[in-house]
Amino acid sequence: FLIFIWILLCYNYIRKDKNMNVLISRCLLGINCRYDGKNNKIKNLREKFPKINFIDVCPEVDSGMETPRKPCEIKNSKVINIDGEDFTKEFNKGSQISLDLCKKYNIKIALLKAKSPSCGKDYIYDGNFDKNLINGDGITCQVLKKNGIIIFSEKEIEDFYSYISAK
Ligand code: SF4
Repeated sequence: FLIFIWILLCYNYIRKDKNMNVLISRCLLGINCRYDGKNNKIKNLREKFPKINFIDVCPEVDSGMETPRKPCEIKNSKVINIDGEDFTKEFNKGSQISLDLCKKYNIKIALLKAKSPSCGKDYIYDGNFDKNLINGDGITCQVLKKNGIIIFSEKEIEDFYSYISAK
């Protein structure tokens, strides 16, 4: 019986100690991949979670878009830039790249940049380029959600911490 308890304790210890892969919006790691060439770095993320492997993605850059680039928003299920050019194909490609990364690295959780037409969760701009927010998800967030990935926005960082710490 004591051996059984010992094996159980060892198993739990190993399980807790195991590294976990989490998908992250690349700009949150401090990489200047935003449309305006800037980033949205979250400080001390790696230090707080040394056992998390952050797998980064920028759906827009990874789909072939340049940095800097003109801002895009979602309107009538299409993604257009401020000049009205259609980038729906690139945004769809970026979402597929993100999903493929989740499958490749067995990722179940993602931490994404808020309000982006790719990464945004729950709120995005309304498509009129007037800084008006509406309910909705970015294209990549939509695809990841549909495929069962648990998404946290950078605005929900405390919830993310609690969720990860309880794992
Ligand atoms: Fe950041 Fe996502 Fe925009 Fe890339 S697409 S800059 S990762 S918010």
